[in-house]
Amino acid sequence: MEETQVYYVDVLLPLHLPGTYTYRVPQEYNGQVQVGARVVVQFGAKNARMYSAVVRRIHQEAPQWKSKYIMAVLDTEPIVTERQMEFWEWMGRYYMCSPGDVMAVALPAGLKLASESAVAIHPDFSGELSSLTKYELMVVQLLTEHPVMRLVDISRAIGVQKIMPLIRGMIEREIVVMDEELRQRFTPRKSAYVVLSPDYAGEAAQKELFDDLERKKRVKQVALMMQFMQLSHFGHEPVAKRELPQGSAIQTLIKNGVLNVEEHIESRLKDYTDEEITDPQTIELNDEQQAAFNLLRSTAEAPNTFLLHGVTSSGKTEVYIKLIDEVVRSGRQALFLLPEIALTAQIINRLRRYFGNRVGVYHSRFSASERTEVWQRTLSGSYQVLLGARSAIFLPFRDLGLIIVDEEHDNSYKQFEPSPRYHARDAALYLARLWNARTILGSATPSVETYCNAISGKYGLATITKRYGGYSLPKVECIDMKDAHHKGMVKGHFSVQLLEAIKEALDNRRQVILFQNRRGFSLRLECDDCHEVPHCIHCDVSLVYHKASNSLRCHYCGYSIPVPQECPACHSTHLKMTGVGTERIEEDLQILFPEANVARMDLDSTLQKNQYLEILSDFEHRRIDILVGTQMVTKGLDFERVSVVGIINADNIINYPSFRSFERAFQQMTQVSGRAGRHGAGGRVIIQTYNPHHQVIVNVMANDYQGLYEEQIQERRIFRYPPFYRLIEITLKHRDADLLNNAAEWMAMQLRGAFAGRVMGPEYPLVSRIRGLYLKQLTLRFDRTEPIADAKRVIRQIGDDLTKQEGWSGVTIIYDVDPA
Ligand code: ADP
Ligand code: ZN
Ligand code: ZN
Repeated sequence: MEETQVYYVDVLLPLHLPGTYTYRVPQEYNGQVQVGARVVVQFGAKNARMYSAVVRRIHQEAPQWKSKYIMAVLDTEPIVTERQMEFWEWMGRYYMCSPGDVMAVALPAGLKLASESAVAIHPDFSGELSSLTKYELMVVQLLTEHPVMRLVDISRAIGVQKIMPLIRGMIEREIVVMDEELRQRFTPRKSAYVVLSPDYAGEAAQKELFDDLERKKRVKQVALMMQFMQLSHFGHEPVAKRELPQGSAIQTLIKNGVLNVEEHIESRLKDYTDEEITDPQTIELNDEQQAAFNLLRSTAEAPNTFLLHGVTSSGKTEVYIKLIDEVVRSGRQALFLLPEIALTAQIINRLRRYFGNRVGVYHSRFSASERTEVWQRTLSGSYQVLLGARSAIFLPFRDLGLIIVDEEHDNSYKQFEPSPRYHARDAALYLARLWNARTILGSATPSVETYCNAISGKYGLATITKRYGGYSLPKVECIDMKDAHHKGMVKGHFSVQLLEAIKEALDNRRQVILFQNRRGFSLRLECDDCHEVPHCIHCDVSLVYHKASNSLRCHYCGYSIPVPQECPACHSTHLKMTGVGTERIEEDLQILFPEANVARMDLDSTLQKNQYLEILSDFEHRRIDILVGTQMVTKGLDFERVSVVGIINADNIINYPSFRSFERAFQQMTQVSGRAGRHGAGGRVIIQTYNPHHQVIVNVMANDYQGLYEEQIQERRIFRYPPFYRLIEITLKHRDADLLNNAAEWMAMQLRGAFAGRVMGPEYPLVSRIRGLYLKQLTLRFDRTEPIADAKRVIRQIGDDLTKQEGWSGVTIIYDVDPA
């Protein structure tokens, strides 16, 4: 670039803004700015704030009004590719939000410096000051006095305006960290490990120890030491304390100095050496797998999207691994998407066994610095296999050749909050198109939309009908609870048959999974005299009784009150509990099976970051016999010893008010059933219901996906739902119900003017008030064949006009394209 020429950049800001903003490049930075790299710009009222923005375009077209200068250049190389920015822009258009909204969720926090960002001293900073510049030294001194500071404040305090380049350098050299990241770092996953005391390192000392314990008849200690010696490879390795029986024996051994306790941070992923890697070519597929593989890799031009429909435990993962291997060999990258909850050590290690250190794992549980690192290594191409939950679609791929969306039917691929409300499976299909990559959607219970595309020939279809290893699918039984009550065959919430099946499993040292889709203890507290049910004061829902905290809680906003002693309406003391949640099931089981280890996995028991991983790991290592949970227990887990799966109340699952409720009920019940008998020895599934002849139950029992699909596709056609129609749901929110009603009516009228009969509503959604805000919904329905891009623009324009009306600026409008 010529020194004297004037350059401008259009930049994207990670904010809810309609498009790009133009800034002027100062002479000193000519030739240094690049598309996809970050620059620092001032933005907002009185230019009070600074942000790192990404350069979208460099040009020489002077804008009509005087543009501000960029403050600094942060990157010498792009951190975002052009294709990613195209992807963001598509997502903004499709999901009716701004590219800035997309950018805000797409970039890892470590790459999103803003003047409001807070930093602190890096916990691993050595304190070595000699290599620091004058200003860096000032920053360190400041942060020693005030442990967490915003960049604006640092900038003011040390009198340096260009604070971001300074801080970026310090972040890179691990002198400071972003506060967000620090908060995660200070709660690392630490676990207690036991090691053999050095006093007992030699064989002689060990023999003496055992002799001594035996002489004193310390039977439990002997047993424990034997177990320890085995797990620790004769004292050479630490053993997680929770892998050993808890109790007095271990305490005594620790007290007597035989075993020492150490705190270990749960290791990050281990490094794989070449010798530890298995060549994927050594995997031998069975006939069905091989046929599927051949079809999925066929080189024909079209289609480029496939459905792999394989029953639970049919060995879909092995097929994926083979496909990934081919792509990796050709030098391209593969993206493997999973629902967050299924993203466990199990699957990570399964992939790393074959692809070693070329596997990058990306999801929200990782700290900002880990995510930034995965980001950089994806960009450089050193990661070739990217495994992640939905946000992994935002990684900066260099050459993407294959996308696998496993459990493609899973609802958790849809992001609800915040905007963009995208569906990762659908977005992945667009991403694949950008890269001319192949997409494989895998499931035992495909979504109706996907299956429709597959049988209509839009997607290729590969099917695996049998479980790998010749194991049979579990036997599904259905208990008519009405009948069972009649015959006195019910104990609490369990049919006698389910209890017997659990007992038999426990007797055979097998494990049990019980699925109950409501959490809490009792679902309602109801007055027996006036039937009053306590409600949340902020939301239009009844409160749920939680026994552990002895409180009534709102599942929408978290509001909670102590359990009242009398009815707030009539002061009667005759209060009764109705309905049953996971907490109650757990407690009842503990009473019925006092010897068994019962655990619960639901939102309440997994609030802390890694708790669900710990529960799953405990289950895998058989420290738990019975696992009770919400839909969290239904997802793609592969446990060897589960022989019984119970569905406590199938009617709750089926009667969820949504056009997808039957499809989803079938999927959840079939998926949770699929956890049983995966490695032989026969699995049993027991479904408790008051509607044993319900179509969905009949389909689940017969493992009849086809039947379910035929029924559902008819319904969808008749009642005008996807895949025949596209839905856009608009939710308006405001504190004032009357104002909201008026605004919603106004919007409905405008929309009807533009789209006539395609507008439904406004109406109150099922829950009409959340966190003090009233909700009103409008739904638009477009025929699949109608072009919809223009319609979306018109809809947004109407929404923008609404908030410009007198008094309505406070109305929040949420667009949800393809609502789940
Ligand atoms: P799915 O993903 O279809 O539910 P998995 O891929 O988890 O099924 O396979 C079920 C089990 O069978 C796993 O333990 C897997 O390792 C094993 N398995 C599947 N295919 C093969 C194969 N070709 N060779 C060896 N083991 C296999
Ligand atoms: Zn009452
Ligand atoms: Zn509430």
